[in-house]
Amino acid sequence: MAAVQLSGIFKRYGDTQVVHGIDLDIDDGEFVVLVGPSGCGKSTLMRMVAGLEEISGGDLMIGGTRANSLAPQQRNISMVFQSYALYPHLSVYENIAFGPRIRKESSASFKPRIEAAAKMLNLGGYLNRLPRALSGGQRQRVAMGRAVVREPSLFLFDEPLSNLDAKLRVQMRTEIKALHQRLRNTVIYVTHDQIEAMTMADRIVVMNAGRIEQIGRPLELYDHPANLFVASFLGSPSMNFAEGVIVNRAQGPGLALQLAEGAGIVLDSVPATATAGAKVTLGVRPEHIETITQTPDAVLDVEVVEPTGAETHLYGKIGGNTWCVTTRQRSRVEPGQRVTLRLPAEHIHLFDTESGRRLV
Ligand code: ADP
Repeated sequence: MAAVQLSGIFKRYGDTQVVHGIDLDIDDGEFVVLVGPSGCGKSTLMRMVAGLEEISGGDLMIGGTRANSLAPQQRNISMVFQSYALYPHLSVYENIAFGPRIRKESSASFKPRIEAAAKMLNLGGYLNRLPRALSGGQRQRVAMGRAVVREPSLFLFDEPLSNLDAKLRVQMRTEIKALHQRLRNTVIYVTHDQIEAMTMADRIVVMNAGRIEQIGRPLELYDHPANLFVASFLGSPSMNFAEGVIVNRAQGPGLALQLAEGAGIVLDSVPATATAGAKVTLGVRPEHIETITQTPDAVLDVEVVEPTGAETHLYGKIGGNTWCVTTRQRSRVEPGQRVTLRLPAEHIHLFDTESGRRLV
């Protein structure tokens, strides 16, 4: 087991810097997910931790030891990639035994570990099979078996589920999480899939353009996104946004929020830190919007209705942006109808439009 510390880690390819001073402390036994859009530098960061990519600057500590210049095999790490890279001519057993044999371990020492790993990963009945006689999920489990028998202090997963179909991805997600709960090892897991991040992580690190946008527990990030990027990245369907300006209330003291483009939303609960004239962006998640008939905060002219079975998504335009409202009830609303909405104050997020930073 190992804690991992990254301090001021950056990466340059020639003149181009792609990772800009990453600071991240990962506790021993923690499951940390690096998530962000394609090209944001997640894999580069992971490969620097693995020793597959040179670190241009900063300090990497693994288990209390500076690891910047250690060779990959000296870092006591196991890595599982998107492509499982199994040897097609070797059985499941021999694929898993490949690493220990290369390291010249005796078969008496690694055989019990392989059997235990196979049992844990439900591969017990397949040890003599060749990879081509396995399903995608079973192959992915063999790749994990190979990582597990190494008994590493740190597991690195780089988009391990991207090649699997949707159903299998959900199943393997649960299996990897269960595996971690049993082994309690330190895991760094890279994905572009925010649902994987939300469901698997102890802590999520949201990255964008080579920088960390926010670090926190999944629901902390979901409920209190630090900025517009995190707010829009986490959640599906994603958070609804509308730009507006803080104004003095028409009646009585205090401030209100007037949205642009005649959207007609006026919210009375505006944080005390806001000042009249400030340009803000309101955010509200689809599942937090209520459909009501009296004194609505906004109206939605419904353009598209999507029933998913468990819930219904209603899409339409508010203030020039497409909004989504999620209802748990079976909805009879049809395209072309108008729905009146309440935006509960406790679920409203406000961001500074220019900097994108959260105001409350
Ligand atoms: P992610 O894993 O988030 O999709 P990557 O870490 O693969 O992102 O890439 C981050 C950035 O670094 C991208 O802009 C990519 O084009 C660039 N990059 C990655 N590898 C190289 C390389 N060998 N040479 C130059 N640029 C690279």
